[in-house]
Amino acid sequence: MGDCEVCGAKKAVKAAIIEGVRLEVCVDCARLGKVIENPAVAIQKPKTGGVSGSAAHRRDKKAALESSREEIVEDYAEILRKQISRIGISYSQLARSIDENESYLKRVVHGDTLPTLKLAKKLEKALNVKITEIPEEK
Ligand SMILES: [Zn+2]
Repeated sequence: MGDCEVCGAKKAVKAAIIEGVRLEVCVDCARLGKVIENPAVAIQKPKTGGVSGSAAHRRDKKAALESSREEIVEDYAEILRKQISRIGISYSQLARSIDENESYLKRVVHGDTLPTLKLAKKLEKALNVKITEIPEEK
C-alpha cells in the first residue's frame, strides 16, 4: 500500500469504499467511508491439536501376588502344640508376647480356628516354627 488516496498525507493502511469507490486510505480517512476488513489476511485458525492419549501405565503386580500366595500349612495346629509344649510357654505368655487374645490363640493352637497369615507370621517368629508355605504350582 502506498499513501492515502484521499489525503495523500498518511500511509494507506486500509481499503475503504468512499462514495462508491474503493480507495486505499489512512486510518483517519477510512472513517469517511466503509472500511473493507482485510479480506486478504487469512484468519489463523487455532491449532486444534488432538489430545494425546495418556500412556497406560500398568503396574506389575507379580511381586504382590507372590507374597499373598502364602498359605497356612495343614498341620499348623500340631506344629504349634508341639513347639509350645517343648518350650514350656503358657498360652497367656505366648498371647502377651504376640499381642493376641489368649482364647483366640488357644482356638488356633487346637486347630479350631485357622490363623490369619499375620498371626501365623507372629507365631512363627515367637515360637521359631514354620507354619506357612507358598503352594507349588500344579
Ligand atoms: Zn487519509
